[in-house]
Amino acid sequence: MDLLERAVAGKRLSLDEIEDLYRYPLPELAAAAHERRLAVTDPALVTYLIDRNINYSNVCTVGCPYCAFWRGKNSPEAYVLSFEEIAKKIDELKAVGGRRILMQGGVHPELPLTWYEDLLRYLKHAHPDVRIDAFSPEEILGLERLTGLDAREILARLKEAGLDGMPGAGAEILVDEVRHRAARRRIPTLDWLRIVDAAQELGLYTLASMVIGFGEGPRERARHLELIRRQQDRARARYGQGFAAFAMWTLQTENTAYRGKAPGASAHEYLKTLAIARLALDNIENHQASWPTMGFRVAQAALFYGANDFGSTMLEENVVSAAGGYDRTHATVAEIRRLIRAAGFTPAERDVFYNVVRIGEPAPA
Ligand code: SF4
Repeated sequence: MDLLERAVAGKRLSLDEIEDLYRYPLPELAAAAHERRLAVTDPALVTYLIDRNINYSNVCTVGCPYCAFWRGKNSPEAYVLSFEEIAKKIDELKAVGGRRILMQGGVHPELPLTWYEDLLRYLKHAHPDVRIDAFSPEEILGLERLTGLDAREILARLKEAGLDGMPGAGAEILVDEVRHRAARRRIPTLDWLRIVDAAQELGLYTLASMVIGFGEGPRERARHLELIRRQQDRARARYGQGFAAFAMWTLQTENTAYRGKAPGASAHEYLKTLAIARLALDNIENHQASWPTMGFRVAQAALFYGANDFGSTMLEENVVSAAGGYDRTHATVAEIRRLIRAAGFTPAERDVFYNVVRIGEPAPA
């Protein structure tokens, strides 16, 4: 059996074989990835989520050179939103039918753990019907250093206060030579995996992600995918659940100190890696297209390279937009549905666990 045939059949590929997939022409990879996607997810549907990002603070001590979002705590542009401001943003989300926020900030040097607990309790009290998926492994590592507690203890306290999930931001490429060449103080691979594992052990929702364009090669991309796959195996075997989906995008460096220093990644590379991810990640069923970074047209094409999901409405997003992502960092529900239909699929609203909640038109808000 040829390598692509084995991948389409869902056979487990070795690290070398994942790397070998990069040698195949894009159309062959696309055909294989699409066939696999049609076999493991509903072939007629492309799902989407109504949600909003909330960046509660832009203060960060990590200072990644490819990030245009962060500010030092004494910067005139530094901010920390009040609990009331955050709750108001949730009102806006509910007005368009959304019931989930994705809330992230930087690594604040001083906000105590009790601030995060109080925030979660305040939001859950004000909006008991809204899911809160928040914080990244990097933010949790920052809290470990600030409090002396370990990630499991911190996440358990946050869960008790109302946290529903910890999305997997900051994975980028899980190879330390790549991540520390790009950002010296970025969370190391083992810490990222350790903190995600703690979240999964506690039953928190998590998402696997990948960012390409740091100058990494096929071997490093394959290693990243293999690590994600291994963690998914481990989480499912030990905790009965793991990453809900896989999302991938390209490095955005506009307005950053990294501009011109990173090779970045083309739409061709994006689609190729998306297709390879579909074939390599035999234990993750749902793969997202990324329209905020790649644009609507490439995201529509991604639906034929292994993706079965169009991501979310993202009523507000500041990290990608600050780094000059595609010129749109939010989309209406109607736009997303129209784009999915134009690509030849039936749009279906989903929840964070990829359960379809509505296939027909949404009720008017
Ligand atoms: S990417 Fe995250 S950790 Fe890095 S500087 Fe930006 S906010 Fe801080």
